[in-house]
Amino acid sequence: MTSELDELYQSVILDHNRAPRNFHKLEDATSHAEGRNPLCGDMYDVWLKVEGDRITDAAFQGQGCAISKASASMMTQVVKGKTLDEARRLFEGFHALVAGDRSQESVLREAALPAKLEVFKGVRAFPIRVKCATLSWHAMKQALETAGR
Ligand code: ZN
Repeated sequence: MTSELDELYQSVILDHNRAPRNFHKLEDATSHAEGRNPLCGDMYDVWLKVEGDRITDAAFQGQGCAISKASASMMTQVVKGKTLDEARRLFEGFHALVAGDRSQESVLREAALPAKLEVFKGVRAFPIRVKCATLSWHAMKQALETAGR
């Protein structure tokens, strides 16, 4: 990766950190989960609105480092409008992306992650940051499990 790309990626993360998308409580949410990362101090609430088999809205609130906040911001953008199965595949794919586990490359291909999530590839080199990047995704998956019950 060139340093120019590094800078581009950093600017994407800084932009989402400065102006997180879907950063509010979702009053008509159908499910909710919390994510806590004591290693870094990241704390988020994630809300989903699930109608039938589809996530029609997603939002989050909380505080933490730039990586955790940017990741949560993009996660809410990416899962909105997706079916529950698609959202689960995105979770698996995102996990494979940041963990950088070669055995999971087929999972990564199948998930067909939006290109903008590639910015989080850089956390592979920093195991503690992997937790920051995946925190809100774990909360989203947890909220999915309680959805539609
Ligand atoms: Zn963090």
